[in-house]
Amino acid sequence: MADSKTSRRTTAAAKPANSARGASGTGTTRRKALSTRRTSYTKAEIEEIFSRFAARDPEPRGELLYVNPFTLLVAVVLSAQATDVGVNKATRGLFAAASTPAEMVALGEEGVREHIRTIGLYRNKAKNVIALSLALIAEHGGEVPHDRDALQALPGVGRKTANVVLNIAFGDPTIAVDTHIFRIANRIGLAPGKTTDAVEAHLEKVIPAAFKQHAHHWLILHGRYVCKARKPDCTACLIADICKSPEKTLPA
Ligand code: SF4
Repeated sequence: MADSKTSRRTTAAAKPANSARGASGTGTTRRKALSTRRTSYTKAEIEEIFSRFAARDPEPRGELLYVNPFTLLVAVVLSAQATDVGVNKATRGLFAAASTPAEMVALGEEGVREHIRTIGLYRNKAKNVIALSLALIAEHGGEVPHDRDALQALPGVGRKTANVVLNIAFGDPTIAVDTHIFRIANRIGLAPGKTTDAVEAHLEKVIPAAFKQHAHHWLILHGRYVCKARKPDCTACLIADICKSPEKTLPA
């Protein structure tokens, strides 16, 4: 993804549900270690679920505003325990004032704080934004690295944030498990798991390769607007006839 001053949107991995500390490693070993229960769906059913998401919304977009990979990274860091709407309100002014690591450092911690004081944990987040800007300048020539380990080494950046950046900025087929995805995966039995890492590994295993690039956005938007936390809106659900959730409610 090339840098641009054009405003873009993405869906941040909204709120962390849970995380498997120590669940390191990749591939089959990691998936085996983390998967706790099998998916409730056949391969054909999963293919159908994602085919429907793709047909309705071929190029899903999220709701966080950003103008380049660096501001995407900052927006996702700021979105922890905050809504996308709240983050966007703050970042409009912040990114107009600073959209590169050097500009952010020049703005300074206090300047960042002034822009983001409406967001939860803003003091710590301002500290992290400056620290990660300095690290990008010192270690990556002021660019956001296309590398999971390098991203996760940055202040305030965990696996979920790295997954969002790898997916949106670099087009990697990563799945950032936020509170919505964690809920859906378990609620409908698509990829049950006790932790976000377990759910991520399970989703990686069951989602066909052709759909992985956009699975993150489709599932988040489905969870945010249809399969909602308190009461799923099953009558408006695109996959209601396939869904095997015990929480499914449809008129008789
Ligand atoms: S039918 Fe209901 S529970 Fe199942 S995915 Fe749709 S909204 Fe969620």
